[in-house]
Amino acid sequence: MGAKVGEFRKLPGSKGRRITREWNRLMAKTLPLSPVVPDYLDGVCLVDVDGNEYLQFNSGISVANYGYGRKLDPAIEAIKDVYETSGMLMMNGGYYANSYMLQAAKELLDITPIRGGRGRFFGCTAGVVGVESAMKAVAMKRDRENPVVRPEEQVFIHMAGAFHGRTHAASSIIDQKKRERIHGLGLPYQICEVTFPLQGDSEACAQFKEDIGAALEKFGPGLILGVILEVVQGEGGVNPIDKEALLFLERVCLNFGIALIADEVQTGFCRCGGEPWAYTLYGIESDIVIFGKGAGYGVLPVCGMIVSEAFDFQEYGEHAATFGNDPILGAVLNESIKQMRSNKLGERSREMGEYLLGQLREAIGGQPWIRDIRGLGLFVGIEFCDPHSGDPDPEFSKKVWKTCENYGLLTLPAGLAVNRLAPPLCVSREEIDSAVSILKTACQVAAGC
Ligand code: PLP
Repeated sequence: MGAKVGEFRKLPGSKGRRITREWNRLMAKTLPLSPVVPDYLDGVCLVDVDGNEYLQFNSGISVANYGYGRKLDPAIEAIKDVYETSGMLMMNGGYYANSYMLQAAKELLDITPIRGGRGRFFGCTAGVVGVESAMKAVAMKRDRENPVVRPEEQVFIHMAGAFHGRTHAASSIIDQKKRERIHGLGLPYQICEVTFPLQGDSEACAQFKEDIGAALEKFGPGLILGVILEVVQGEGGVNPIDKEALLFLERVCLNFGIALIADEVQTGFCRCGGEPWAYTLYGIESDIVIFGKGAGYGVLPVCGMIVSEAFDFQEYGEHAATFGNDPILGAVLNESIKQMRSNKLGERSREMGEYLLGQLREAIGGQPWIRDIRGLGLFVGIEFCDPHSGDPDPEFSKKVWKTCENYGLLTLPAGLAVNRLAPPLCVSREEIDSAVSILKTACQVAAGC
């Protein structure tokens, strides 16, 4: 018998230890491996191979927006339906049209405001492919318009704290400190990092405007290809952007013909509440939107980009992906959109997100080791600090994260000293209450109370 949620368990358990040991021996290094080895999942509940129960409050990095186990049935049925009625699941959606992806594209384009009218759809199987597709589309447009300018004279702007993926090119436009650590050196263009204008941080907002002004002056607007951003940074620490700063950025981009690229890989599909996309919560339009994670229902890697006609590729063959636009991806995407609507996931995410924020603030807000509790929808971050200096305290944050695991709550680290909560959008009030209670215990353990 393993431990129930809220009861202490030693990690890894004996079966978990055997598996993680072998895993570490055989698998190439990726992320630091969790001591929790999942055996079975249902809704928000996870049971590990040693029989311990957990509340899964990270959705596998914001992937299982719809929950696990039986909650996945609609998407599995949709896949079965494609298989039984057409016999094709993967069928080179670059060359061969299919009704599944066509329907998904129509629906998604209808709910995605893109500058200059309806966008165009490109499906792929990793968020980072969407990111690189967007960068390439922007660069190719500029090249068509001004072929004499060399790539090394041109610039992409990104934000401090940003994360856009781990390929060479995408990791060139992430937070500078992380970029240096993971060898993001793969762009022929220059990159310019600007301060992220965190909501409520007037100094950062002023610095952001200054940085944008300085970039325009240094490079000249004609050489700035695009600005890529997450309107709520995920890996950076669940940082919502300041609305006024974002509207300022939109105006700058519009005035100077600079592409605005919204990376919604982590924030999309109602994660941030209210609407399918976080950027529309701020009332802006974007030239390109990139999506992934939650789009695939926790069933398949369904990712892609929605691009304005102006920024779309011009010649056939300039861009494609073997599995892009395949019927199986279309079927799952259709189900994602359908369930998002019928379960009113936007409203649910907003309502439950407000409840989670409220409960957290009541339980641990005001403590000397809490720097901030923030978020949008069911995307919430708790930032910890040293009570004396007020500086972010990564050790405290790590201790809380690990102690939560020991008591049956799975969260994710983010930024310097942030615990990130992104539960499936089907999470209940009771599950939130249990999670908050575990977090409170974990904070007390970390504080040595
Ligand atoms: N963009 C953002 C905002 C992300 O959080 C991530 C992954 O965490 C990516 C892009 C890359 O997505 P993928 O890991 O599917 O390539």
